[in-house]
Amino acid sequence: MVDLQSQYLHIKKEIDKGIQEVIDTASFVKGGKVTDFQHHLESYTGAKHVIPVGNGTDALQIALMSLGLKAGDEVITPTFTFIATAEVVALLGLTPVVVDVEWGTMNMSIEAVRRAITPRTKAIVPVHLFGQCADMEPLMALAKEHHLTIIEDACQAIGAEYTFSNGEKKQAGTIGQIGCTSFFPSKNLGCYGDGGAIFTNDDELAGKMRAIANHGMVVRYHHDMIGVNSRLDSIQAAVLDAKLPHLDEYIASRQRAAAYYDKAFRDNEHLLIPERTAQSTHVFHQYTLRLQNVDREALRAKLQEAGIPAMIYYPVPLHMQKAYQDPRYKKGDFPVAEQLAECVLSLPMHTELDEEQLRYITEKTIEFINQ
Ligand SMILES: *Cc1c(COP(=O)(O)O)cnc(C)c1O
Repeated sequence: MVDLQSQYLHIKKEIDKGIQEVIDTASFVKGGKVTDFQHHLESYTGAKHVIPVGNGTDALQIALMSLGLKAGDEVITPTFTFIATAEVVALLGLTPVVVDVEWGTMNMSIEAVRRAITPRTKAIVPVHLFGQCADMEPLMALAKEHHLTIIEDACQAIGAEYTFSNGEKKQAGTIGQIGCTSFFPSKNLGCYGDGGAIFTNDDELAGKMRAIANHGMVVRYHHDMIGVNSRLDSIQAAVLDAKLPHLDEYIASRQRAAAYYDKAFRDNEHLLIPERTAQSTHVFHQYTLRLQNVDREALRAKLQEAGIPAMIYYPVPLHMQKAYQDPRYKKGDFPVAEQLAECVLSLPMHTELDEEQLRYITEKTIEFINQ
């Protein structure tokens, strides 16, 4: 699905130099590399504060912890997503409230969010699924109307740009009060282990989240709140700082691959290509088809035989996960998410796909579909 080895070889010198510097200075934690990367990411995203943390899941957890919510407070999130979003809500004793998504973009339905708001709702966590922003303008308006905090899960969408109706542009993760991202190796900006970051323009929230990520400590060994230990280590920061200047090229490569897939599949009635919105660019963390009247498992097996990996993101919506069984929800409650879980298929998507590989993947896919 990804080719991190070839990507590394293109920038080996820069990466090796950064890692060697960390080893030479032996500042493995909170070193200058972490601060350098933080500042570079602040300039790239336009976020006033970037708080580097251990991974994307921690970023979401720390963001939620900073809101001072209490047991039973409700947090709305889409049911068609990676588990981390709801997991941290549940871990903190808050109540995840899930909503359905849209068929074309696979992102959270804003109308569904509106219907799910209750007097106990405190926050909304939109997920910019597969690399395209959820519809943030109406969502921000809705949140403002009901005094709710928006925490964006931008783990798959770093670098995606959202345009508001007044022409203003903002990057994924910098639109809500807080944004979270992940640097897991296969993410669009990936390190060589685990890493994550939180974005905010709010000075007070930034201070609080920095403290929470560091054992709730503001003054050394004085703990003002219950925190966690979550940090980006310097070696990962060195890798990320070497890759960040290439992020725009990486996004362009992914978009070129997506355009190739689009062109090959557009007219095939069995393959629905991912829908784009006018408001957001799509940075294609995944290229996800919706199969129509296709035996997905058979297609996957045939692709596998041809040496083409294809993955199902995600096979089970949150409300149907064993660990998240909830008497409020049953099968059938979120028909779009349930249908997507049965028909989505993600094709290889990374920065190193060349035309020959793309031709092979698309030809094989169509050949198997037409059999
Ligand atoms: C990857 C991902 C996360 C979690 O990030 P980790 O760094 O693996 O903890 C959370 N949400 C979404 C949507 C993701 O894709």
